[in-house]
Amino acid sequence: MNEHIDQLISLQSIDLEIDQIENAIKAEQNALDLRITALADKETLIADLQEQITTLEKERRALEAEVSDKMGHVKDRQSKMMQVQTGREQTALLKEIEEGKKSAKESEEQIVAIMEEVEKLSSQLSEEKNLLKGEKECVAEETEKVRATIENINKGKKEKDALRQQQAQGIKVNVLRKYTTLRERRNGLAVVNVVQGVCQGCFMSIPPQKFNLLLKGDQIFDCPTCQRILYYRPGNSE
Ligand SMILES: [Zn+2]
Repeated sequence: MNEHIDQLISLQSIDLEIDQIENAIKAEQNALDLRITALADKETLIADLQEQITTLEKERRALEAEVSDKMGHVKDRQSKMMQVQTGREQTALLKEIEEGKKSAKESEEQIVAIMEEVEKLSSQLSEEKNLLKGEKECVAEETEKVRATIENINKGKKEKDALRQQQAQGIKVNVLRKYTTLRERRNGLAVVNVVQGVCQGCFMSIPPQKFNLLLKGDQIFDCPTCQRILYYRPGNSE
């Protein structure tokens, strides 16, 4: 059994190193993914600005057509003024002309406001486009760097994978299966030390009777709380 435990401890130490390597790869990839997501967000923002500008330009053209219609109507009423006879008709026409002019003026004010808004959005748009261009170049460089880093990390991982395979070969299939399941369910830690009667996986006490049996060292024991495989190495941390 001691031999078994030794093999499992060695296997786990290799596996933990492999976990670290895999985490390092994931961290590299995640950081890059975040920047790629930020690029996509900026592209969405740019498309949104562009759409706002298009909508406002359309509104402006419609208002310009309205102004031209209103002014046409005003001119028409003005020329009609020559033909009317009564004061009442004249008053009515003058009122219509005044209202037409007033309404055209309001539309023109709206046009000015729209143009100011478009100008503001356009300058924001060109700023965002510049930022995007710069960021795209940075991300392209970063992607290349991350690819090279991951390739490098993977070289080290291959060696560890081979070592792991070799180490696993000497372990009984059922023990290995139990170990693998425990690693999956217990955050990568399947085999743990017992220090002062306390499991170093879940930090709960082992019943004294069980601990005494563990000290004899001729059986594999599970922690009654977390089910991890326990070992005891005197003089290690006690
Ligand atoms: Zn435990």
